[in-house]
Amino acid sequence: MIPGANPDATGVEEVLAELALLRRGDAPTHGGRTLAYVYDSGLAELDELAARAHAAAGSANGLDPTAFPSLLRMENDLVGAAIRLLGGEPGAVGTLTSGGTESCLLAVLAAREGRRDVADPSIVVPSTVHAAFRKAGHLFGVRVVGVPVDPTTFRADPAATAAAVDDTTVLVVGSAPSYAHGVIDPIPELAAVAGERGVRMHVDACIGGWVLPYLRRDGARGGPGAFDLSVPGVTSLSVDLHKYAYCAKGVSVLLHADPELRRGHYFASADWPGYTMLNPTLQSTRSGGPLAAAWAVVRHVGDDGYARLARSARTAAERIRDGITAVDGLRVLGDPDATLLAVALDGEPGFDLFTVADELAARGWHVQPQFPHESSPANLHLTITAVNRGHEDALVTAVREAVAAARAAGPVTLDADLRALIGVLDPDTLTARQFADVLAAAGLDTGTGDGADPGRPIRLPDRMAGINTMLAAASPRLRERLLAEFLGLLYRP
Ligand SMILES: *Cc1c(COP(=O)(O)O)cnc(C)c1O
Repeated sequence: MIPGANPDATGVEEVLAELALLRRGDAPTHGGRTLAYVYDSGLAELDELAARAHAAAGSANGLDPTAFPSLLRMENDLVGAAIRLLGGEPGAVGTLTSGGTESCLLAVLAAREGRRDVADPSIVVPSTVHAAFRKAGHLFGVRVVGVPVDPTTFRADPAATAAAVDDTTVLVVGSAPSYAHGVIDPIPELAAVAGERGVRMHVDACIGGWVLPYLRRDGARGGPGAFDLSVPGVTSLSVDLHKYAYCAKGVSVLLHADPELRRGHYFASADWPGYTMLNPTLQSTRSGGPLAAAWAVVRHVGDDGYARLARSARTAAERIRDGITAVDGLRVLGDPDATLLAVALDGEPGFDLFTVADELAARGWHVQPQFPHESSPANLHLTITAVNRGHEDALVTAVREAVAAARAAGPVTLDADLRALIGVLDPDTLTARQFADVLAAAGLDTGTGDGADPGRPIRLPDRMAGINTMLAAASPRLRERLLAEFLGLLYRP
């Protein structure tokens, strides 16, 4: 920049300093204290490597692989690695997407397109399936038939699944593992149900796909069961590289057992005056950045490296589970197979789980509240990663302290006005005025801040227990509406 020539432009150092200041308001992405959203290998060099690879390819466009053959090469390398890791036979193919949701969307789209003869297509999913499949149903006009899971193990029920499959079913889905409870559905049984009916079967291994294969190799210690493309009847599988492959955000892989199964998510259009549009994914322009960063990280860590990282994360998860189970008043839901924990109240211990979350946040640990759903009670979600290994006691100690503080504070009682309001609101006709009333009753400050802390233009209260209690009391549909309204308030320039 020429000084003075461009008076409203910001200098390099200045703009980066501003960014650093903004980032200070975020949940920490490293160190293992943010137990959702982020994945930390604990390997110091990975960030630098990813950043440099990202910079080297961020301007390249995957829209046309003939113009940017480097991206084609790197994508084929990553897909090949995923196929080898996840039981693909020769002939298996895959596609790199922007994330787990896009992979799941494309699996549903391909299944729908593979059955154009079905007028009213549906998919059969365990009710614990990731919300991405609800989104697919919403976007692609596919009915989502949710089948309740076993109320104790939270695993899919193959018999109930078989009963739910009918002539409109174009896809059966199972998770390996589920996000909410971290348990693996009985994939061989579900795939058999699908296979017998000639229906496709997708395994959502978005979160477990880069961990479970390594744990299975340690099978002597009782590793998880078969879940991948080698299971008869499994036709597709999704695995996120930006989760347990510890890659920078924006990369997932969707595998199909053969190219014929994949065809339906490809899109081509020659019906415009521009270039013939050819898209394997929902995106058209595709940055080479996340792809190159993932390619570099996967090659650098290597198979042995991932085996070590998977073992570290699993050991940490087991220790944290044991530690939390020993805390009076808490229990872990189900028998988690991987590296995720759902922590619920044990009986009625006289304290509030959402207060425990607040108390953990006050101590610098961030967990994710999960609301009651069918047989699953309110709980706190913990994604454990390799960086937590060796520091399990710190988290368990924080949980103990948070529970003691929550006990001392007593249970949260929902404000009577708020309870009444929640009881009468109709999610389908909710007005801006009513939403403002809810915010006011919840004591939420939606002011745009005074600029002193640019990272938080809308100030959430330090303690969320009251709001979470209200949201837990709302019907799922009302909760969706309230949170969508809230999001609309956040995204205002
Ligand atoms: C994370 C996740 C997804 C969605 O992935 P995003 O990358 O967040 O879009 C889908 N399924 C499961 C099981 C997941 O854990």
